Amino acid sequence: MSNPLYDALFAPHEGQQSTFLELPDGGTISHAEFLEMAARMANALADLGVSTGDRVAVHIEKSPHALALYAACVKSGVIFLPLNTAYTARELAYFVDDSGASIFVCDPGEEEALRPIAEKAGCPLRTLGSNGDGSFTELACTMATRSDVVPRSRDDLAALLYTSGTTGRSKGAMLTQNNLLSNAEALVDAWRFTEKDVLLHALPIFHTHGLFVATNIMLLAGGSMIFLPKFDLDSVLAALPRSTSMMGVPTFYTRLLDDPRFTSDVAAHMRLFVSGSAPLLAETHERFEKRTGHRILERYGMTETNMSTSNPYDGERRAGTVGFPLQGSEVKVCDPDTGVELPAGDIGVLWVRGPNVFKGYWNMPEKTREELREDGFFITGDLALIDGDGYVQIAGRGKDLIISGGLNIYPKEIELFLDALPGVRESAVIGAPHPDFGESVVAVIVPETGHAIDVDAIKTAAREHLAGFKRPKVFEVVDALPRNTMGKVQKNQLRDTYAKVFQ
Ligand code: ATP
Ligand code: MG
Repeated sequence: MSNPLYDALFAPHEGQQSTFLELPDGGTISHAEFLEMAARMANALADLGVSTGDRVAVHIEKSPHALALYAACVKSGVIFLPLNTAYTARELAYFVDDSGASIFVCDPGEEEALRPIAEKAGCPLRTLGSNGDGSFTELACTMATRSDVVPRSRDDLAALLYTSGTTGRSKGAMLTQNNLLSNAEALVDAWRFTEKDVLLHALPIFHTHGLFVATNIMLLAGGSMIFLPKFDLDSVLAALPRSTSMMGVPTFYTRLLDDPRFTSDVAAHMRLFVSGSAPLLAETHERFEKRTGHRILERYGMTETNMSTSNPYDGERRAGTVGFPLQGSEVKVCDPDTGVELPAGDIGVLWVRGPNVFKGYWNMPEKTREELREDGFFITGDLALIDGDGYVQIAGRGKDLIISGGLNIYPKEIELFLDALPGVRESAVIGAPHPDFGESVVAVIVPETGHAIDVDAIKTAAREHLAGFKRPKVFEVVDALPRNTMGKVQKNQLRDTYAKVFQ
């Protein structure tokens, strides 16, 4: 029997001296060294009694060791469960408990703080530090550099990945070997990755973007990664001339554009910039092209579905869209109430089907039944339309839809209008409870650096361009929108902040 994910991503590199990771200090880790590290860790997991189908919860800083633990889990048939490094002890208690993890691996520095959580959940605690320190790493160092590949089928779970918690409590998405493998295959092909590629990796590895999209693609293609602990402008600018490709969230791109050192020369060696996890403003797209000559390739995905759509590698990368379904995936836009498929151009809820779609939510059979239909379609909860040329446009999240006086208002439409006004850098439009209308519209605006916002001028422009019920009744000017580590605007937080503006 085989282990399809291990066999495709890792096994071909065993014993290979080719560079897999380039580190900030200039050091490198070869594929062979990485896989030896993973084999030791696989043996350490077995030594600790972790076996097939168990969950390994990890809350550790990004490092080659952290990535090796992922490889060790795949090899051992164990379910990898990475947790956002920003989570607090209280939040972690929920995940460790909910997942029924068999072991919890954390940074050495947080061992004391997390011990009570692990004890309460009856889950042994081990440590793994980014410098190779910690009790788990020490145990791994005593182990052999070879380990057995535990047989798995394509339908077995490889990872339990919690969603970002943007719209409510994070849900555990059960991802199979085939979900991850089929998506990596589709993306290598769609984005033309080869062993010659050097990917600048500055994303976190607790999220689908940095872990599966970036890492799995590079493993499958056989290229190398410049592996930075986080997005730091100086390090990214220094690494770009040696890279061929980068995957980023939109804030990576706005931060690069804000720095005059980011020039077309710096990007001259690059062949591909990919953006996702949050909407890329059309304005960012255009500024980026003007500065570098590159058109950012925007794609769309979710923890539950891996990547579903992408702009084309060859052909028009259309700003404000997320392109076409990937090979093997299908998408359709349906009426939120009846589920009937809508014609091109109409906004509805986006449904996705394909080998990329997860097996269901962990411990949430009812939610799974509601959102994952028997015919294989997953109801994403994102609002979208498909334009006349087949490009998918994300129109925001269903949960962000504002219903005012019984009328639907799409925040995205108002945000696009506001963002295009002079002096406006970006905006977020939300609904706040209103005594007459149920909800009414609040616009939160971030000015361009050095610009004062003329709210009266914006109100006048809104009167000319937006129907009365869509017009924001309150305008708030702020320095920055609240964002999480993946650059996603925290509209829940904004809704809390402005919950009483109409009362
Ligand atoms: P939760 O489901 O817990 O509320 P989340 O949906 O933010 O959190 P993720 O799975 O990390 O968790 O994010 C997926 C979502 O990110 C998508 O459903 C979509 O709303 C958004 N997204 C991803 N890529 C894009 C993109 N290119 N443009 C617009 N939105 C995007
Ligand atoms: Mg979600």
